[in-house]
Amino acid sequence: MNKVGTGKAAVIGAGIAGIATSIRLAVQGYEVEVYEANGYPGGKLSSFELGGYRFDAGPSLFTMPHLVDELFKVAGKDPEEYFQYIRLPETCRYFYEDGTRFTAHAEPEKLAQEIETHLGEPADHVLAHLRDSAVKFEVTEKLFLHRSLHKVSTYFNQDALKGYLNLHRLDAFRSMNKANSSRFKDPRVVQLFNRYATYNGSDPYQTPATMNIIPHLEYNIGAYFPRGGMVAITNSLVKLAKDLGVRFYFNAPVQEVVTQEKKVVGIRINDALKPYDVVVSNMDVVNTFRKLLPKAQQPERILRQPKSSSALIFYWGIKKSFTELGLHNIFFSSDYPTEFNHLFQQKTIYQDPTVYINITSKYEPSDAPAGGENWFVMVNAPANDGQDWDALIDQTRQNIIKKLSRLLGQEIGSLIECEAILDPRLIESRTSSSQGALYGNSSNNRFAAFLRHANFSTQFNNLYFVGGSVHPGGGIPLCLLSAKIVGDLVK
Ligand code: FAD
Repeated sequence: MNKVGTGKAAVIGAGIAGIATSIRLAVQGYEVEVYEANGYPGGKLSSFELGGYRFDAGPSLFTMPHLVDELFKVAGKDPEEYFQYIRLPETCRYFYEDGTRFTAHAEPEKLAQEIETHLGEPADHVLAHLRDSAVKFEVTEKLFLHRSLHKVSTYFNQDALKGYLNLHRLDAFRSMNKANSSRFKDPRVVQLFNRYATYNGSDPYQTPATMNIIPHLEYNIGAYFPRGGMVAITNSLVKLAKDLGVRFYFNAPVQEVVTQEKKVVGIRINDALKPYDVVVSNMDVVNTFRKLLPKAQQPERILRQPKSSSALIFYWGIKKSFTELGLHNIFFSSDYPTEFNHLFQQKTIYQDPTVYINITSKYEPSDAPAGGENWFVMVNAPANDGQDWDALIDQTRQNIIKKLSRLLGQEIGSLIECEAILDPRLIESRTSSSQGALYGNSSNNRFAAFLRHANFSTQFNNLYFVGGSVHPGGGIPLCLLSAKIVGDLVK
């Protein structure tokens, strides 16, 4: 253990980034207290039970597990004692409206062969795409992901120099769809690789081809499943934090970050000031400024950036097993450009949305009663702009049931024995995420990385920001990296 810090640190929010930060600061020698508005930890990464079924509430795809392991290792613990996971042999089962079905194997050679057999796209094209994805990752990883983009030192070191020499490899001047359409001849393969834009809530027709970095995570590094479901990430890290002496307070919404000149002196909670030497906000940065720091200078340009997409989720207890489904399943829209036009221009949900189904009971049978399955059914939705969500939810529910019934050859509606729904309004109110966006600002323009807030405050010396709404971005791996950057900055 490398203890350097002294003093007391407060973390506002027990989202995955807040928990990871609490661990890093505790390891560094701080006395850490975490305040969480909800009665449970994890924020978006939590779970619940309904009618004998268990559901992960938010994230379902787990990549870069070494970033979780690293937290146990820096704390001097054996990761396996806290957290176990397996590498998935297949990443997703795909269903197209024209009747095509195929399984995306995790192993690149097998994936490429499967795509050639079922979609007629030469295997070479797929392998070249994944090689290119790996190069993009290598160029960006050290420059963008492990360091603050807002410190001069980031731009003057060997990794940065290597990065500059390869910047052209990032393909930042055309869209993901343009790049994929020029690489692949079959529109179904273009659609498959365009889908990766949604992994950070972006639009493949706008986001730069740099985002073709994302398949590297799934195929070259691998997709994983945590034993006990996604919530095991949260629970195991909370246990580690507690073992390190971190104190958690639940149902404890922070009301204000209290400042004096260029310093934060503490936080206000239950109308009382609690003094701290360091404060880290895991609350969405827009709401941190608007609600906790209303008198501070507001970084308007960053706070007003368009948001990533949100999601509409139906959690269905299904009283039947489907052998043709796996852990991850995608039922594609027959018109992807129109679907994304609806999401990002019209700010609504298309009548034929791409439907994602996650079924953890495929790997954890106890997540559903015998003979049943726990379906997490998600479609992309626009960020909350005051749409008529009740009407949209009703309509989309009908459209999804029709689509799944058609493609699975079985009436689905009558198999649903219990249901819960999560929509952008609820994501916003449950986690204080601006407009219910899943990943903070959208990455639909090539400067997006520079339009996320830094992990530190330029106004207050001892205030830091962590999580999906700030650098380097949303999704579990990037949230964990933001905690690592904050740990390095606080040292
Ligand atoms: P959050 O999880 O939003 O946590 C912030 C916490 O701060 C909340 O618990 C909130 O209650 C608390 N808080 C806010 N304000 C206050 C306050 N004033 N006082 C006290 N507490 C406060 N990522 C993936 O990697 N893979 C996926 O498959 C994936 N799918 C997703 C699907 C859905 C439906 C959703 C919603 C998200 C998905 N994501 C996925 C994104 C991922 O969940 C997030 O990027 C990540 O969990 C965000 O973590 P966070 O720590 O930044 O914030």
